[in-house]
Amino acid sequence: MSKEIIEEIRSAARQLEEQLKFYREIGVADIGGSAGIAELAPGADSTVTAGPEAQQGVAVPVEEEAARAQIQLPVEESMPKKKEQVQQAGLFGDILIDEVAKPASESARLPVIHSQDPSLEAIREDIGECTRCKLHEHRTNIVFGEGNPKAKLVFIGEGPGADEDATGRPFVGRAGQLLDKIIDAIGLKREDTYIANVVKCRPPGNRTPERDEVATCEQFLFRQLAFIQPKVIVALGSPAFQCLLRTKETITRARGEWREWNGIKVMPTFHPAYLLRSPEKKRETWEDMKKVRDYITSLPD
Ligand code: URA
Repeated sequence: MSKEIIEEIRSAARQLEEQLKFYREIGVADIGGSAGIAELAPGADSTVTAGPEAQQGVAVPVEEEAARAQIQLPVEESMPKKKEQVQQAGLFGDILIDEVAKPASESARLPVIHSQDPSLEAIREDIGECTRCKLHEHRTNIVFGEGNPKAKLVFIGEGPGADEDATGRPFVGRAGQLLDKIIDAIGLKREDTYIANVVKCRPPGNRTPERDEVATCEQFLFRQLAFIQPKVIVALGSPAFQCLLRTKETITRARGEWREWNGIKVMPTFHPAYLLRSPEKKRETWEDMKKVRDYITSLPD
């Protein structure tokens, strides 16, 4: 075998190793079946395999590596089996929204300008230097949302955290890094998608947004979604799900089942910040995201 071919195989194995590391990180314990890697990583060379040594960064003779027929991933048994209690306090506490939820105090409310222009720029302009609810008092930056205005896939979180407040960009902290990995795992890039939140200003101490704050701010999210017209909305956590679906149902009950928002498919799943605290739940999010990936890849271009 020529040196070039060996180097090529080595490089493919290194790439695969990276890919596998990150599937493990997002909680994929078992990709199942011989078609697994092709299914998980479009573009990955399914003829090249990475055994456990390669995953651990131990050099393995290329011929031996190439001869291996199976991808070895941590097996299901290594995942916690017990049914862990789902604690949705704080960030994941439920907000109760119903049709009569009232916006923040009338005096704090600026007129809502439904501009003729439905564009994202016009929505951002309408938000202005918002003082419509009390969240403006402690914010550094309004976090409007970002991404592809023609995205097929939109992620909705509950509200900015400290890193987002500091930068004005959604999901850039630790939860955001995990979200990036989740997006990558379904074969997309962050910039292919659009990412936004229910409320655009950071709730103090990362508390769950209150119903009056949601009722005041959600109009802007709805306008963003109406403009983008994605094929799928992924609702990350209870607040996003409850806001979109006008329900009190929790994410724990709803996750993994397709819902609908104004004719657009909605997939409720766990919030990445929750996954950081309860990594054993990543597996369920991965199941939900496979449904999203399969639906999106089934769409005509
Ligand atoms: N959590 C959210 O819900 N949104 C962000 O933008 C960041 C963290």
